[in-house]
Amino acid sequence: MVDWIEGRITGKRHWSQALYSLQIEAPLESFQAGQYIKVALDVDGERVGRPYSLVNAPQEQPLEIYFNEIPEGPLTPKLSDLEIGDRLWISAKASGVFTMDNVVSRRHLWMLATGTALGVFLSMLKTAEPWERFERIILVHGARNTGELAYGETIAALQAQHEEALTFITALTRDSSETALQGRITHLLENGLLEEAAGAKINADDSHLMMCGNSEMIKDVRAWLEARGLHRHKRHEPGHYTTEQYH
Ligand SMILES: Cc1cc2nc3c(=O)[nH]c(=O)nc-3n(C[C@H](O)[C@H](O)[C@H](O)COP(=O)(O)OP(=O)(O)OC[C@H]3O[C@@H](n4cnc5c(N)ncnc54)[C@H](O)[C@@H]3O)c2cc1C
Repeated sequence: MVDWIEGRITGKRHWSQALYSLQIEAPLESFQAGQYIKVALDVDGERVGRPYSLVNAPQEQPLEIYFNEIPEGPLTPKLSDLEIGDRLWISAKASGVFTMDNVVSRRHLWMLATGTALGVFLSMLKTAEPWERFERIILVHGARNTGELAYGETIAALQAQHEEALTFITALTRDSSETALQGRITHLLENGLLEEAAGAKINADDSHLMMCGNSEMIKDVRAWLEARGLHRHKRHEPGHYTTEQYH
C-alpha cells in the first residue's frame, strides 16, 4: 500500500511536442539521487498512480518530474493538463535502487538514456558523488528529434562546472543535426561511432554503465555488453552495468 501525501504544482514547463516537466512542492522524505516517486491523480473515483524518477537532486527543492504524454495512457494526459496551484498525490517515500550505491567505481561512468530517462541522470549529476568516484562521465541521450532534447541549460551548467570530466552526446533516430550522432544507441555502439565520439572504449576494466529508458535499448545494449564480457551488477557479485526500465 502506498502512503500518499498531497503535493502542489509550483512550476510547469512544456518543452515541446508531448514533453512536460512539473515542479511539485510536497514534504517528501529524504531520497537518493536516482530514486523515483509515485505520482497519482484521482480519475473517475479511482487513484491512478505511476512511478516517475526525480529530476531534482536531493538537496534541491521543489521536486521535479519529467514525462511525455502518452495519448492513450490513463495518467499522463491528465498530468499534462495540470497548472500551477493544482494538487496531486505523491508517495510519501521515494523508492528504487538505480543509484550510485549500485555502481562500481572505475575510470569511466557511461549514462545511457532514451527519451525522458535523461532526467534521472541529471539528478545524479547534480550531486558530488559521481564526480568524486569517476575520472570521466559520458552522458548519452537518445531521442527521436531535436525537439526532444530538453534540459539544455542544465546540461550546459554541468559542462561549465565539470569541463572535460563530462562528455555529452546526443543520438537522434528521426532527425539529423550537426551536433548529434544519427541512429539508435545500440546501432552507434555496434558501428563504433559512440565510442569514437566519446573518445573512450567500453571495457570491463574501465567502465561502468547505467542504462535507463525503453526496454528495447536496454535489451540490445545488454546483449552487446555481455558479448564483450561485461555483466550485470549484483549486490554480492560486482558487475559492469545497472538498468532501470520505464516501459
Ligand atoms: C521505475 C520507473 C520510473 C519511471 N520514470 C518515468 C519518468 O521519469 N518519466 C516518464 O516519462 N516515464 C517514467 N516511467 C513510466 C511512467 O511510470 C508511465 O508508465 C508513463 O508516464 C505513462 O503513464 P500513463 O498512465 O499515461 O500510461 P501507461 O498505462 O503507464 O502506459 C501506456 C503505454 O505507454 C508506454 N510508455 C510508458 N512510459 C513511456 C514513455 N516514457 N515513453 C513512451 N512510452 C511509454 C507503456 O509501455 C504503455 O504501452 C517510469 C516507469 C518506471 C517503472
